Amino acid sequence: MASDGTRSPLERLRAYYDHEERTCPACGYEDEEGVWESETNGRQVHYYHECPRCGAVRDHTLDVLAE
Ligand SMILES: [Zn+2]
Repeated sequence: MASDGTRSPLERLRAYYDHEERTCPACGYEDEEGVWESETNGRQVHYYHECPRCGAVRDHTLDVLAE
């Protein structure tokens, strides 16, 4: 895996969720096609993923730290 120093921390974090948190803790379904949706209001970023099998929603809300 080549490192990419140009990516922002938020992009790296989203990539982490995309790759590491796609197995549903409720039913164990591994959503290989799944992606984390994200939305932001400028101060926080909200990531969420809904399990296509059981509908369980996982989410993460992250504060955007302004410089
Ligand atoms: Zn599930």
